[in-house]
Amino acid sequence: MLHERLSEIYDNVLRRNPGEIEFHQAVREVLESIGPVLGKHPEYAESKIIERICEPERQIIFRVPWEDDRGEVQINRGFRVEFNSALGPYKGGLRFHPSVYLGIVKFLGFEQIFKNSLTGLPIGGGKGGSDFDPKGRSRHEIMRFCQSFMTEIYRHIGEYTDVPAGDIGVGQREIGYLFGQYKRITNRYESGVITGKGLSYGGAQVRTEATGYGCAFFVDEMLKARGTSFEGKRVVVSGSGNVAVYTIEKVQQLGGTVIACSDSSGYVVDDKGIDLALLKQVKQVERRRMATYAERRGGNATFVPGASVWEVPCEVAMPSATQNEITGRDAETLVRNGCIAVGEGANMPTTPEGIRIFEEVGVAFGPGKAANAGGVATSALEMQQNASRDSWTFEFSESRLRQIMRDIHARCLQTADEYGMPGDYVAGANIDGFKRVADAMLALGLI
Ligand code: NDP
Repeated sequence: MLHERLSEIYDNVLRRNPGEIEFHQAVREVLESIGPVLGKHPEYAESKIIERICEPERQIIFRVPWEDDRGEVQINRGFRVEFNSALGPYKGGLRFHPSVYLGIVKFLGFEQIFKNSLTGLPIGGGKGGSDFDPKGRSRHEIMRFCQSFMTEIYRHIGEYTDVPAGDIGVGQREIGYLFGQYKRITNRYESGVITGKGLSYGGAQVRTEATGYGCAFFVDEMLKARGTSFEGKRVVVSGSGNVAVYTIEKVQQLGGTVIACSDSSGYVVDDKGIDLALLKQVKQVERRRMATYAERRGGNATFVPGASVWEVPCEVAMPSATQNEITGRDAETLVRNGCIAVGEGANMPTTPEGIRIFEEVGVAFGPGKAANAGGVATSALEMQQNASRDSWTFEFSESRLRQIMRDIHARCLQTADEYGMPGDYVAGANIDGFKRVADAMLALGLI
């Protein structure tokens, strides 16, 4: 239920942003949490902070023309939504996926504001991407697309303005092509303009692993808060991209057994535990589908095409693919099968109905804003190293990440307690993330 004033604001968001259903969902979730804050802080309502937060500071939509390997011209659409810069330069990834449209970029950018605030680091919120589909494209086609994308977007970004990174379909290879084109156009080696770079050209240790590792650390904290651990737990991870692979790696190091993972073609069950070296070879080196993993693993693993990975019984679920991938029905199945904790590596992977079911039965539920904030936090550490022309060791960087995740976990719990909702990580994350941005906006005047 929404507080009366928030309900008016939400209706206005619906009216002003027609058809952008993912954006509506993301806004509603935050508004549902922050009602109690308005009672304690009337100054936020007086200054229309919430209305302002729901309206991006700037939205850029542009044409991305490029030539495929047959010499045919292709046209895609590019986006960058610069949502909020009260805490620092806009910061958030780029997603290349055919489903991308303004509503997806705005939901991701909106969530990013609060996530970045939760890290306690000086970064604002933004997000971008394109409806370009990298699947089946050659390396040269990907490079030409990235160069064309950067040829427009370079004028809007900068280390003090807006700092993109990767997301679905944008990994280190794409970041390299994007950064190379920025450098060529501007004649500046401005390392801090983009994060997720390779180690040989200004990247930071642990950035590649950070989102997955961070999510595993966050779930580890949730389990510890309930007097248990990953030890002996069966874990299901969806996806098999950047976030999923490094979630699996860290969960295994923390004593859990990851028994299933997926891609958009289906899922693999591997009761003895996913063979990470084989998964990396199949997905990262050869860029093949999950069925190949099962074939190479012989009798140990089964590939199940076109089905939901959430039907595999587990104690811990870590959705790491895409938005709205755990429906109410999936949540019911997970609960019935004995799931006690969910950590969102992906952004908004659980539908509102799914969240309600988890919360009703007391499953420890770590929302993406908190649980996957390790990626952007480590991006901020990459910016810090770029600014000081320094590079930290893997061990030091990982210890910083672990501490950041512990702090986020503690702040979520503390804030949820303070507002009378003990154990509610969704409320804790939304309120804590919101307050820091709101206070900065008040202090900065009418921005
Ligand atoms: P990748 O592109 O590396 O991997 C995405 C994975 O999810 C692939 O296995 C892909 O399968 C699967 N997937 C994507 N879209 C769909 C879909 N519509 N249906 C089913 N499966 C799908 O992306 P990342 O690992 O970087 O991102 C995964 C999630 O984590 C996203 O929600 C992203 O926003 C979030 N995230 C990422 C961060 C990062 O640092 N990279 C930081 C914070 C959050 P297939 O290959 O078959 O498409």
